[in-house]
Amino acid sequence: MSIQLFVPFTEKEQAKSFGALWNPDMKTWYLPDNKYDQIPAVEKWIPGIDRFDLILSPVLMVAHAHRKCWKCNHINTVIALGSSPYYVRDEDWQEFSFSLFQNVTDMSDFLGDFLKNQYPLFKPGFSKTTRSTYWVNHCEKCKQIQGDFHLFDEPGVAFFPTTSEEASRLTINQYRFIFSPLLNADFSIGDHHDLIREYARW
Ligand SMILES: [Zn+2]
Repeated sequence: MSIQLFVPFTEKEQAKSFGALWNPDMKTWYLPDNKYDQIPAVEKWIPGIDRFDLILSPVLMVAHAHRKCWKCNHINTVIALGSSPYYVRDEDWQEFSFSLFQNVTDMSDFLGDFLKNQYPLFKPGFSKTTRSTYWVNHCEKCKQIQGDFHLFDEPGVAFFPTTSEEASRLTINQYRFIFSPLLNADFSIGDHHDLIREYARW
């Protein structure tokens, strides 16, 4: 459970002073999860960090729900990625407790590879509504995209429960990675996360 770091040889003492450790088997530096308060100090060594605005926990959450396809009426399983805690690029990296993420536009390659295998219908797609490409659910039957708006943005929709009963329809799987995935996405803060934590099936 850690953040992978690419530390040049000449900077290794400095990295160590921030709590970075060397993994001899994987031949890589990493920041252990009890040192995540040092993320701002080691940020420059996180590979590709410039592309991302979120650092997730190495334990990825995947929330599952069901929703009828707007095009063909097929009942699909749709998913949302989540993390607890997660870190947001601000002036520093700020820790937040829990969110599901929407409008996912970029992610660490290993997370993309995992999703390709495990959830092949969650993949980049072009939304005519937002005129942008992001990682989005697709219908199992007709392959049309199932846009984030109808899953996240209106109270009572799949990933925005407003009651314990709505939250209880969610199932959450957890997947443990060696390193924290990096993500570009929108997060949200609100009571629905407490409902999900308490009433979803974990
Ligand atoms: Zn469909």
